[in-house]
Amino acid sequence: MYAKLWLITVGIIVVSTAPATAKCPGRFAVEVLGSGGPLADDARASVGYLVWVDGEARLLVDAGGGVFQRFGAAGAKMTSLDAVLISHLHVDHVSDLVALLKSASFDEAPAPLPLVGPSAGAAFPGLSEFLSAHFDARTGAYRYLARLLNADGDAFRVSAVEIDAGGEGADVAIDDEEIRVKAIPVNHGDVPALAFSVSINGASVVFAGDQSIASEAFERALTGSQSDLLIAHHAISGAKGQPRGLHRDPAAIGDMAAVLGAKRLVLSHNMKRALDDWRVGRKAIRAAYKGPVDLAEDGMCLTLRR
Ligand SMILES: [Zn+2]
Repeated sequence: MYAKLWLITVGIIVVSTAPATAKCPGRFAVEVLGSGGPLADDARASVGYLVWVDGEARLLVDAGGGVFQRFGAAGAKMTSLDAVLISHLHVDHVSDLVALLKSASFDEAPAPLPLVGPSAGAAFPGLSEFLSAHFDARTGAYRYLARLLNADGDAFRVSAVEIDAGGEGADVAIDDEEIRVKAIPVNHGDVPALAFSVSINGASVVFAGDQSIASEAFERALTGSQSDLLIAHHAISGAKGQPRGLHRDPAAIGDMAAVLGAKRLVLSHNMKRALDDWRVGRKAIRAAYKGPVDLAEDGMCLTLRR
């Protein structure tokens, strides 16, 4: 099966994909590949999620350390993906991307795999520059893999789709609107960063990503959206001295879930400093949000449509 993807705002049309095996069943499901953060102290992989549709892995969201192994163990194939969605270019969200692309380069694909990620800002390159820094034929650190950017024919290759991280968001429609993705800027300090809202088969999931409370465009876009699942990142507790300029504390996560009207909240990107204070954090979330709340684990399968 082949799926079409186009970015509505700029009209790019590309084609990707192929079949795969399923371990996370249902018409629409999210598999947590990595439920941890940037510290290697918790036996969790760093951030990564797979979106499964009718038994086929269709989207990969982030690819932090450990996701390479979890992706293979999940039975997913890079060549079945419609796109890879990258929230931002911190190591815990993107360090295994290169390894996954190398793995995919052993396969053939009829068109470039779109990588959707943020534009440049502050000390961070945009997604295109990030890829060039790895794969440029003359200057890339992995120039031996330059074919990932410039191959033709049926060789596996990628294309960058940069989203303006200072804008109001952009719709990415996939497979004739079977899959609809909205990429929405969030505040993560001075790091250009995106959240993603994914709608499939009448259900939706919001990957809120790493974000602080100063994420106005995100709240404007999704207030009252009543997503079936909100995945929020649990990086800090409510205690003093935590980096609130980068992340929402549990009270602010509860506020976000309530404002969106999310039907279920799952906390991922779990860091020890947050988990150690989880009983207090759970109460803080409950103050604003009354729906079900769970902590993600690596390998967890969250079914949205059976
Ligand atoms: Zn992070």
